[in-house]
Order: sequence, then C-alpha cells, then structure tokens
Amino acid sequence: MAWDFSTEPEFQAQLDWVAEFCANEVEPLDLVFPGAAWSLNPKARALADPLKQQVKDRGLWALFLDKDLGGPGFGQLKLALLNEILGRYRSAPVIFGTAAPDTGNMEMLAAYGTPEQKERWLTPLLNQQIFSAYSMTEPQGGSDPNLFKTHAVRDGDEWVISGEKWFTSAGARADIIFVMCTNGMFVVPRDTAGVEIQGYPPLHNHIRYNNVRVPADHLLGPEDGAKVLAQRRLGGGRIHHAMRTVAQVRLAFDMMCERALSRESHGKVIAEHQMVAEAIADSYAEITMLRLLVLWTAWTIDNSSTREARTQIAACKYTMAKVLRDVSYRALHIMGSLGTTNLTPLQAMYASAPTMAIADGVDEVHKVTVARNVLKGYEPHPGLWPTEYIPAKRDEARKKFASLIESDPDLAAWADAAVRATWRG
Ligand SMILES: Cc1cc2nc3c(=O)[nH]c(=O)nc-3n(C[C@H](O)[C@H](O)[C@H](O)COP(=O)(O)OP(=O)(O)OC[C@H]3O[C@@H](n4cnc5c(N)ncnc54)[C@H](O)[C@@H]3O)c2cc1C
Repeated sequence: MAWDFSTEPEFQAQLDWVAEFCANEVEPLDLVFPGAAWSLNPKARALADPLKQQVKDRGLWALFLDKDLGGPGFGQLKLALLNEILGRYRSAPVIFGTAAPDTGNMEMLAAYGTPEQKERWLTPLLNQQIFSAYSMTEPQGGSDPNLFKTHAVRDGDEWVISGEKWFTSAGARADIIFVMCTNGMFVVPRDTAGVEIQGYPPLHNHIRYNNVRVPADHLLGPEDGAKVLAQRRLGGGRIHHAMRTVAQVRLAFDMMCERALSRESHGKVIAEHQMVAEAIADSYAEITMLRLLVLWTAWTIDNSSTREARTQIAACKYTMAKVLRDVSYRALHIMGSLGTTNLTPLQAMYASAPTMAIADGVDEVHKVTVARNVLKGYEPHPGLWPTEYIPAKRDEARKKFASLIESDPDLAAWADAAVRATWRG
C-alpha cells in the first residue's frame, strides 16, 4: 500500500538511539562547553571527537551524501527524520557530519570534483580535518546573481580572481573557500595571498579577493558552470535547513505546551484560556503541515532529483521561515517575561526567523519561483468567462439532458426553479 507514513523499525531504532545520544551526550556538551565542537581551540574541539566516533560506529556519519557520492546513501527522507532530532541541539550537526556550510560544499565537490579534487578536499572535509565556506553574495546584491562581478582571468597555469564578497559564513575560519565567479566556481585556500578578510560582520565575513592566484585545477566543474553548481548546492542546503527548522519549532511547541499547563492566571491554568488554546491549536496544525511538506519534498528528491523537486524546496524555504517566526513568537509570548530573555532557547529561535527568510535566498524570490512553476500547469481561459463560470457550464450540461428536458415539462420547470434557488447576486 502506498502513502505509508510509518518509519521502518530498523531505522526507528537508529532514531531512538540518536534521540537518547543527543539528550545524554550532545546537550550536556552544548551546555557546559558551548561551541566546543567547532572551536579553534584544539582542546575544546577534541571534546567532540569521541562523540563523532560513536556516530561513525553507528553508521550515521555524513548521512546527507548519497552512495554514488561517497556517503551511506540513506537518502533525504531518512535524513529529514534524523534532522528532526539533530536540529534541537546546536552542535549535533557537526557531531553527525551534517553541518552547513560544509555539507553543501561537499555535495558540490562530490558531484563535480575530479578524482584529484575529491582526494585533496572532499576526504578531509568528510573527516572534518578541514572546514570550508561558500562565497557567493556580494555587497551590491545577493538575490540577483546577474549583479555579481567577481571574476577569474586565466593566466598560464593559474586563475587570477578579483572581486568582493560578503556574508561568507565562517569564511574567517575556513581552510578553503568556494568562490562563485561570473565564469566558474573556484576553490580558494583561505591563506592564499590576496584573500583579505574584513573586520565585520564577524561571523559572516566580508572578503576582498585581490588578484588571488590559484592553480588551474582549482576550477570546480566546467568553466561558466557556477550557476549550475550553485543551484545544486543551495537546493540541498535549503531542504536541510527546513528539516532542522522542523526540530526547532517542535522544541518551541513542547516548551509552549509545558508552560501552558504550568502557569495559572485569573483562576485557571493558562492552557484553559481560549486564546492560549488557539495558539496551541494553530501551532500544532502549522508544524504538522510544515513537517509533511518537508518529508514529502525529501521523498520527492529521493525518487527523482533536487532539480525535479525545486518547486517544493522553494515552498519549504519560505514556509519554514513563516512557521518558525509564528510558532517561536507564540511560545515566547506564552512564556511571558522569561521568554524575552536568553535563559531559554526561545529568544534566539525567534531572532533567527528573519535570517531563515533571507539566507539561501529571500522569501520573495522563492515565492516567485513557486508561482512561476505552478503557473506552467495553467492556461488563460478562452473568451470572457472563467472555466468554472456556472451559467456557461450549465448551458453545456443541459445539452446532455436535452431530450429529457424536452420530454418532461414538469421536470424542466423543477430544474429551472432549483437553479434559480441557487442564485446569489
Ligand atoms: C546568516 C546569514 C548567512 C549567510 N551565509 C551566506 C554564505 O555563507 N555565503 C553567501 O554567499 N551568502 C550568505 N548569505 C547571504 C544570503 O544568501 C543573502 O543575504 C541573500 O541571498 C539575499 O541577498 P541580500 O542580502 O543582498 O538582499 P537583497 O538581494 O538586497 O534583497 C533585500 C530585499 O529586497 C527584496 N527583494 C530582493 N529581490 C527581490 C525580488 N526578486 N522580488 C521581490 N523582492 C525582492 C526582498 O524584500 C529582500 O529581502 C547569508 C545571509 C545570512 C543572513
């Protein structure tokens, strides 16, 4: 029977293990050593190593990569179910080898890299011996790639890259940066002469590429192929963000429900006030809709490709931002004054909602994509009336009953009266 919403028992056992592992091992690390898993301090970073080893021993490392790209090949649906757990914990994606921006960069390398490029960069990225960043957005424009100016010029055995990028997440700490040029995607080691990292923004770096020279074999994929590589990278990245957002909104929902049952006001627990009940009911429905949209999209990718699923991915992108904003706001509000502090995860969660609506492409652009693709399945109606204009349809339908109507005046009169009774306006 198709349309089966259940998880196979073997994978459910893995998910149960992950939930327990994250609660018992990952969360304590996050609470006592926040940021240790990606720290530049080797002693702090080493704290995550035994946890990563446990994940590898369970066969759950780097789940996002398909078998043909060198991963375990579990597919996007299983990854979505896993991310519904990981997304609750800050360092879980790093501990499971599924953290952005490395995942998208690895996907590009796996799909487009030569065997030498894969050996040089993909293997150490997979093992997290090195870290990467992705430099696409430029100060003069992010949503429209036609405004990008960063360019590479061939000079003998080298490419010379000139331009300016910003919002390159983790660029200052990356070992290699994937730089999108107007004429190709290039891998640039961060310590190459001419890579000039500006002082701010501190985490999403502004970088000048001043005549940066890289060997010819640092071009990834075909010359002039940067947009295709970028689409591949961003499509995967967006659905992974959506999967983790499901985890976030479920966490907010759990907090909302627990608090609603724990506080009293005006003679009853606040859960019994109808507006609180409405917040819970709306959140429940919105989270469920988002979750099903994300799982269906992941399933579609598994059964076709990221490209085939691009309309659904775009819908996930702006829906997750909206559900995150609405649910985290309601949860924060129900938490009262405590919700406005950073003593629970809610404040940070609510603050991240605008980022979700901007990073990886602004909502407006994704909405236009969805509308444009959906409209391909439609045509304008011929003539004045829309297809569903009832009088025109009825005239057409009467032809089917013409002989009956002609032969039975009583029935014809009854039909006319019945139709008149349906008229409004
Ligand atoms: C936390 C964070 C991390 C990021 N990490 C990276 C990274 O690692 N690498 C990287 O390259 N980039 C990164 N980005 C940049 C991100 O991809 C861009 O911010 C995004 O593409 C939007 O570009 P922009 O900021 O220049 O906004 P603009 O393109 O200037 O858009 C601003 C606003 O204009 C409106 N608008 C724009 N275009 C349209 C349109 N077609 N239709 C209707 N309205 C429109 C919208 O309201 C939009 O919000 C990151 C951004 C954030 C916030």
